[in-house]
Amino acid sequence: MTRTGAPKPGRNDPCYCGSGRKYKDCHLRQEEEWRSQQLRLRNAQDSLLQRILAMATDAEAADLRTAFDRYWNGRYQFEQLAELNEREGYGADRFMVWFAFDYRQSDGQTLVSRLAKTIDQSDLPPLERQLLPQWVDVRLRPYRVERLRPNAGANLRDLLTDEPLILADSHASLRLELDEVIVGHLVPVDTPLGANQSNYYLAGPAAHLTPDTAEPLRAFADIHLAAFRRNHPDAGWLELLRERSEIFSHFILILPTDKPDPERIQRFIAETRQQLLGE
Ligand SMILES: [Zn+2]
Repeated sequence: MTRTGAPKPGRNDPCYCGSGRKYKDCHLRQEEEWRSQQLRLRNAQDSLLQRILAMATDAEAADLRTAFDRYWNGRYQFEQLAELNEREGYGADRFMVWFAFDYRQSDGQTLVSRLAKTIDQSDLPPLERQLLPQWVDVRLRPYRVERLRPNAGANLRDLLTDEPLILADSHASLRLELDEVIVGHLVPVDTPLGANQSNYYLAGPAAHLTPDTAEPLRAFADIHLAAFRRNHPDAGWLELLRERSEIFSHFILILPTDKPDPERIQRFIAETRQQLLGE
């Protein structure tokens, strides 16, 4: 049971759950324990992400270069990496997160899955150990912002699966606008009291796109999935994204930055369809 927005009972009032016991002897304790666990998990999220990004920074230069070309699709040279935070809205940071979560190294593993495989030999703190296995399949994905919850985060919807998600990241939510599309890495962290779905937090910065991009972005993803299924008939979104989640970066790169240009987006979708499906 969650009590978002409900008035808080006094410590000696009867508990809201109807148990007949005082609040302080019933759900208050449980809520306090959950809140401190949530805080510990949030801290673990921060330190695990920093650990993963440090692995990315230490990666082989050759791998970083190959990944860079895939992500930026020839738009920039690797030597420009340092400029991209400025020029492409945290582009350098977004690329490093993608490199860590999505790019498969020579052994076929991402840096995240490699760390998860060696978890038993590692000296990861217990809460990071608890989080890491759930992060292995996190990939760059698009989400629509459906509701802003002041000081508490936002309700998002996965643009590919239509699944609703809670972004509990109140800090990141300050930068969100209603109905916009964000493209980023959402990691599950804590599970609210009585809920069966995790709260999500943003790992690194997201790209922010205007609401009119939602429909063409979904069409673009559908074309890629249809093309991928020619060789992998049973593939779903996760199988596609394990291979080529950089397509979302390519989509972002064709978006106009000064004024809306729906024709340009439609042309790009048509070209993609022609190229991948021959239609
Ligand atoms: Zn109670």
